[in-house]
Amino acid sequence: MIRFPDRTLEPRRVFCIGRNYGDHIAEMGAALDDSCIIFMKPATCLVPAGGMVTLPRDQGVVHHELELVAAIGTAGKGIHRDSSLGHVAGVSLGIDLTLRELQATLRNKGRPWALAKAFDQSAPLGDFVPLGEGLQPGAVEMRLEVNGEMHQQGSTASMIFPLEQLIEILSRTWALLPGDLIFTGTPAGVGPVNPGDILVAESPQIGRFEWTCT
Ligand code: ZN
Repeated sequence: MIRFPDRTLEPRRVFCIGRNYGDHIAEMGAALDDSCIIFMKPATCLVPAGGMVTLPRDQGVVHHELELVAAIGTAGKGIHRDSSLGHVAGVSLGIDLTLRELQATLRNKGRPWALAKAFDQSAPLGDFVPLGEGLQPGAVEMRLEVNGEMHQQGSTASMIFPLEQLIEILSRTWALLPGDLIFTGTPAGVGPVNPGDILVAESPQIGRFEWTCT
């Protein structure tokens, strides 16, 4: 469920963007590219704030990736970046959980990332706030704490492809529909998550959201 202060939206598709912050590309030892990576998770991966995240076992390390998430409220195809924010119902924070070693294995074999990215409960998702004067998608401060310790801190101002451009890119291929979500990529500081960990994603503009891992 996509939760707003005054309503809910049924989630539809979860689009995810890879390699959208230079500092994260550097920490992964990856190369800058002129196009972003696009992958998807099923909406059944979402875990609302306050929920429990059961981590996959025996498949190597799971990493957290803190991300700004946009929810589409108004349908559109071939959307121009200049009018893109009119299609956004609001934004929140999400965590793109990733089986990091499995992702590397799949990448080295040239295989898709589904097994490493789209497993059950791989997308903890906070509550949404409509865009407005005090909340612009290109100026969101966000941080992730694991067991009270700061692990990721960033600003969406550092995105290589801002949300407006991501909507333009995605809507060339897919007619975006109400309830579609866009995970917009992670800044540096990704790291392991283990059973028993408490994850807290926080933004002064959006809110504070917590999940417990088992
Ligand atoms: Zn990610």
